[in-house]
Amino acid sequence: GTTYDRPAQTRVFTVANQKGGVGKTTTAVNIAAAMARAGLTVLVIDNDPQGNASTALGIEHGPETLSTYDVLLGDSSIADVVQTSPADDRLLCVPSTINLSGAEIELVTVDSRETRLREALRTYLIHRSSSDLPRIDYVFIDCPPSLGLLTVNAFTAAAEVLIPIQCEYYALEGLSQLLKNIQLIQAHLNPALAVSTILLTMSDIRTNLAREVASEVREHFGDETLRTVIPRSVRISEAPSYGQTVISYDPSSSGALAYAEAAREISRRQAPALDRQSPATSTE
Ligand code: ADP
Ligand code: MG
Repeated sequence: GTTYDRPAQTRVFTVANQKGGVGKTTTAVNIAAAMARAGLTVLVIDNDPQGNASTALGIEHGPETLSTYDVLLGDSSIADVVQTSPADDRLLCVPSTINLSGAEIELVTVDSRETRLREALRTYLIHRSSSDLPRIDYVFIDCPPSLGLLTVNAFTAAAEVLIPIQCEYYALEGLSQLLKNIQLIQAHLNPALAVSTILLTMSDIRTNLAREVASEVREHFGDETLRTVIPRSVRISEAPSYGQTVISYDPSSSGALAYAEAAREISRRQAPALDRQSPATSTE
């Protein structure tokens, strides 16, 4: 297959939208899987207590499994908890377990509660670079549909935000709240953060509604919005029940091809400038 450009340094994305069901998890796992299939090394951090990303990547995440919870609130490093997807040995995942559902509250009383994921990721990337293991090219952090401390940790660890927008009525509703929260993070915790990428998902491509939503989104976010639009596809929604991404489940389906094209677009786009790199990848 076609290989994608390898970034000059690790690019860290938070996949966020405080609406549920807009395609955050589907986007995180399928873009990651497409990149891994093309030869890049990719880490997905499942930061949602529902654990849907872990499920879709075929990753063990029962209650006893070491997970994002142990990284945020225990003594575990990412190296201790990371697993490899059975579909692709370049596709890594920090799983989420049900324990994470209490983390929003448990985090409130701990030190540096907003920066725990960033520090853990920084340590892990340094650990990788001093080992024989291949460098992580991309990190995708899959977020819950809320703007609590789990999402704050993700915003603080990343340099880029990827916002999936579902092609439906009221697609842009709530987006200003998300952008306002991102501005607060920029002001107080992570000046490097940028909304670099918007992806239109679940489009019924031939309908007027989908076209209208797409043009409205492009009007507001012309530079950030990927040209590729993800179609609604039964194969995409079936794949997780087999513990797979659509990239491995049905690589020639329209959904898999669209996610592969979106991944290629992301890899071709310029990473943020050095002064906008992820705090987790800076070496100071
Ligand atoms: P979120 O993480 O934002 O809550 P998901 O990625 O879990 O959203 O998607 C919500 C539901 O929609 C899931 O059941 C998923 O399988 C389905 N879905 C996502 N994208 C598509 C698509 N392009 N076509 C069909 N179903 C989709
Ligand atoms: Mg999700």
